[in-house]
Amino acid sequence: MPKASRRGGASRPKTHAPRKRFGQNFLTDQGVISAIARAINPQKDDNVVEIGPGQGALTDALFESGCAIKAIEIDRDLQSQLRVMFFNRDFTLFNFDALKFDFNELSDGDHDLRIVGNLPYNISTPLIFKLLTHLPVVRDMHFMLQKEVVDRLAARPGNKHWGRLSVMTQVDCDVEYLFDVPPEAFYPQPKVQSAIVRLTPKMTSHRPECSREELGKLVQLAFTQRRKTLRNNLRGVIDDSVMQRLGIDPACRAETLTLDQLMDLSLQFPRAAI
Ligand code: SAM
Repeated sequence: MPKASRRGGASRPKTHAPRKRFGQNFLTDQGVISAIARAINPQKDDNVVEIGPGQGALTDALFESGCAIKAIEIDRDLQSQLRVMFFNRDFTLFNFDALKFDFNELSDGDHDLRIVGNLPYNISTPLIFKLLTHLPVVRDMHFMLQKEVVDRLAARPGNKHWGRLSVMTQVDCDVEYLFDVPPEAFYPQPKVQSAIVRLTPKMTSHRPECSREELGKLVQLAFTQRRKTLRNNLRGVIDDSVMQRLGIDPACRAETLTLDQLMDLSLQFPRAAI
């Protein structure tokens, strides 16, 4: 294992063998770790929640601000290492699966949680969908993800990455693609490029009359086969005449539709189809 250059007083024994099943690619590049911490810019009174602290590389950098950190780590074997590293910090560790965790429990008020994580790639998309249901307690989220997932989060209409993840995230969050991280920044090195993204929940709900659940179902259906027309994907659910009335060409592909056009369509979605 390569040596990670480190600052601060926390000691980090290097005895843990990375586990593939938990998506363990540990950050070792101090320059990248510092850049992520600068992008997050934690403040002393922030309520920071880290998903998957691993061996504490990012945690340690975030603690330099003097903030408190609540961390959720599934790997029991990393617990004692983390507790030793951060024994003199305001550190609360939950040995739990983040996919099953109730994030509302960590909140002390509206929009106070600053959620961060170098997420295991195998759970990143379901975890983001889960966190989208907790937005009233979230101030912002910074994640390291597979670059392809960040492309999808940040995609605009007409782009090949524009789809369910982009729509369901952008309807309630501002998405900022921050920067790329190469495989060399990790041990072991992942096979793919990574990138950092910031998601900030919108303070005013965009078109609250439009149910997110119905939008989700509509989008899933509309993008079932990306190369097919909207008419084909929505056959038997929304008629051509309804699309035309909304100014939408039934012969177009879903990936050309804007967020508002998809929301317009979801309002036409018959309840029986849900
Ligand atoms: N933050 C560390 C770093 O940047 O070096 C570790 C990142 S590693 C990519 C992902 C971390 O998430 C691992 O520590 C792994 O054990 C943990 N993890 C994996 N699945 C998890 C889950 N369902 N809930 C909570 N933590 C999980």
